[in-house]
Amino acid sequence: MAPSVEVPESVGEVVGALAGEGSVVLAGGTVVMPEVNTTAHDLRALVSLRRAGLRGIEVDGGRAVIGAATTLAEVGKHERLAVLRPVIESIASPTIRNLATVGGNLFVKQPYGDLAVALLALDAEVDVAGPDGASSTRPVADVLRDGAGEREVVTAVAFDVPDAAAWRYTKAMRRKQNSASIVTVAAVLGLDGGTVGAARIALGGAGAKPVRATAAEQALTGGPLDHDRARAAGEAALQDAEPFDDAYASAWYRGRVLPVHVRRALLGE
Ligand SMILES: Cc1cc2nc3c(=O)[nH]c(=O)nc-3n(C[C@H](O)[C@H](O)[C@H](O)COP(=O)(O)OP(=O)(O)OC[C@H]3O[C@@H](n4cnc5c(N)ncnc54)[C@H](O)[C@@H]3O)c2cc1C
Repeated sequence: MAPSVEVPESVGEVVGALAGEGSVVLAGGTVVMPEVNTTAHDLRALVSLRRAGLRGIEVDGGRAVIGAATTLAEVGKHERLAVLRPVIESIASPTIRNLATVGGNLFVKQPYGDLAVALLALDAEVDVAGPDGASSTRPVADVLRDGAGEREVVTAVAFDVPDAAAWRYTKAMRRKQNSASIVTVAAVLGLDGGTVGAARIALGGAGAKPVRATAAEQALTGGPLDHDRARAAGEAALQDAEPFDDAYASAWYRGRVLPVHVRRALLGE
């Protein structure tokens, strides 16, 4: 039987609607709807975020807060979020980006989730609403690792917008549109003169979930950002990766190209 579609008009009503057995959040539907239409499922209700007031972007004093139901296209057009434009433009196609949401990107399976990789590098915080009016703010790393609880909905993500000079992003893919990641690399570098004082490096296409490349971060920190150190960081990134096979690339290939793309991303090549 086709599931019903509920269109609640507040976050509280969304959480209430999720109480029903077999209810799931429907955001842009770019992943949910193909599953509903093509796979066996026991879903009873799709709980739409369309009218729940979760759409919008605020950038204040360098801090960005993005509603979970904001589309990727809206993020890509925001003048204060220009650093994220390469991330957005690497995802799917304009048609998909007009539907796909920021919140939904946190829950898609790898090798999708390119914005999630960027949010991990940005050390974003995620606002989550749950039953009985409960709300919490969690590190994006926790949400990516554990998901959201049953009857919980992500309401917003927040992060410090990096300077363009500190931000790195690259995605290796087979063609320009509608191709999932072979390897995605996002990084925020704390540069003090030519020295890397701190680094957050996140990887996609490198395991079941987006992952922080902590060994690469250590290899890079405390010295100049030059070719040798970027290369060493690229090699170290393999320590945090568990490359996998899929239709886009073999695990072997992912493992071969990961160090190269980490190095290139870090050097801005
Ligand atoms: C042809 C094609 C190409 C694609 N290419 C890429 C790509 O290159 N990179 C990429 O990152 N993605 C890609 N995607 C995947 C997808 O479009 C995006 O990841 C998108 O951001 C998912 O968002 P959505 O709003 O459509 O999610 P939905 O399909 O609505 O939901 C996805 C999942 O997240 C849950 N969910 C959604 N919002 C919330 C919330 N606020 N709180 C709790 N749970 C929630 C849903 O219940 C569901 O489990 C592609 C998809 C297609 C069809």
